[in-house]
Amino acid sequence: MIFFDSHCHLDLLAKKLDLNQVVINCKNNQINRILMPGISKNNWSEIKQIANGYSDQTLKLDYAFGLHPYFIAEHDIQTDLTELETQLKRDKFVVAVGEIGLDNFVAKQMDNHKQQEILLIEQLKLAQAYHLPVIIHHRQSIDKICQLIREQKFEYGGVVHAFSGSQQQAKNLIELGFKLGIGGIITYPRANKTRQVVKTFGCEHFLLETDAPDMPLNGRQGQVNSPEYLIEIFNQLVALKSMPAEQLSRVLWQNTLDCFPKLKGITA
Ligand SMILES: [Zn+2]
Repeated sequence: MIFFDSHCHLDLLAKKLDLNQVVINCKNNQINRILMPGISKNNWSEIKQIANGYSDQTLKLDYAFGLHPYFIAEHDIQTDLTELETQLKRDKFVVAVGEIGLDNFVAKQMDNHKQQEILLIEQLKLAQAYHLPVIIHHRQSIDKICQLIREQKFEYGGVVHAFSGSQQQAKNLIELGFKLGIGGIITYPRANKTRQVVKTFGCEHFLLETDAPDMPLNGRQGQVNSPEYLIEIFNQLVALKSMPAEQLSRVLWQNTLDCFPKLKGITA
């Protein structure tokens, strides 16, 4: 079997763990491909360097560029959006615009709902113009995100990462052409809502992800999360779907390529 971690911040992980060792552990755990989302202008070159430095025949690293709502205070919005467009024009290996979205927790703390919405709308417009899918971050904000995607008539889909919404929200996102990122949350028995969504909807709608170094799995609370644990999320998914592991791993791999079509043209 082969596995794709569709959402992992290796640049942030490198500040906490030895990246050489993480890469070796991934290879030993059948993790063959990792997509790193961008979070701010300053980290784009960093993830690109990691992708170029560590990719080989057994582990391919890919990247997306975006301005994350969580770091909104660090963005110089107009300048950084212009730079994002320059990068999208210039770099044919950028497979998506992301990580973008709305973080209602931050919005309430900093009273920046409006700025976050503007930042998301402008990045949806860029993704639309450059025919790219998006990687969406949500926190108490799925309905608003759906509304903005509809209003913008955005049509390149993408993934809503670390999905933790309701059945209805899952249905709405799927209808808008989105995949649901399934991560460590399903390893917690108390995450009943998300586990029910996973049981209800077909596995063709899911991508596998760790969101490392964040989102530690059940049993690893307080530890730094790492892409090598992707297999534990997968095993949980196999149990919830009662599906042969081989078949599920193939579907999940293909879903990731379908979600980010540019990946199909990129090889190590
Ligand atoms: Zn993320």
